[in-house]
Amino acid sequence: MEEKLKAVVLRAVDYKDNDKILTLFSLENGVVSAAIRGVKKANAKLKFAAQPFCFCEYVLSKKGDRRSVVSADIIESFYPIREDIVRFYAGAVALEYVNAFVQEEMESEEAFLLLLSFLRALCYSSASPRALLVKFLIEALSLSGYELSVHYCIKCRKSVINRAFFDFDAGGAVCEDCREGADVEINPATLSLLSAADGASFDDITSFDFPLMIERKAIKLLSYYALVKAGVTLKSVNDLLLLEK
Ligand SMILES: [Zn+2]
Repeated sequence: MEEKLKAVVLRAVDYKDNDKILTLFSLENGVVSAAIRGVKKANAKLKFAAQPFCFCEYVLSKKGDRRSVVSADIIESFYPIREDIVRFYAGAVALEYVNAFVQEEMESEEAFLLLLSFLRALCYSSASPRALLVKFLIEALSLSGYELSVHYCIKCRKSVINRAFFDFDAGGAVCEDCREGADVEINPATLSLLSAADGASFDDITSFDFPLMIERKAIKLLSYYALVKAGVTLKSVNDLLLLEK
């Protein structure tokens, strides 16, 4: 049986001498795995189709649970993401997120379109890759059922002014008057970034001008939130946080 899927490559792992196993995120069928044969040979025709970030239309053959790539037509390579180390690791966090949170063989159109919009912005817009990632993570977490509440205090519903705190269990900002023992103090500027990114479009992020330190803190907070709520460690976040500029 053959099937046609529009999909982004999340992961490509070496298999046997010349093959790879791809983890694909498809519009039609969520996350699926497929073998791609011979792609490690020097002049392999389908090399492009085994690169993370690459968006292709794949024709897969399916025997039982096993899929293998028959052919692929490139839709968008997102190549510029691989030319810049900050974009690359910001993108890698998103691919890792999808791989961890989106279920196999389950259509997730909204998550798919979110990933594509993020990759396009990461590739072609002048916005900060880290700020784009903050926006991606907020929206992706919300689609996974872990919505954040960052526009006001989740306990008294008033604006959070002066000192800001975060309740990781409830996923929301807390003001100084309502803070309790387990709430963690955060930089008020970190909360401003989260609040600005929540509800902004990827285009809007172009006008953001938050210091690098604040972007890092926001990404750290969101990845810690993913760990607390879902037990998922996004390893690429560490690679991104280690980058100097
Ligand atoms: Zn309050």
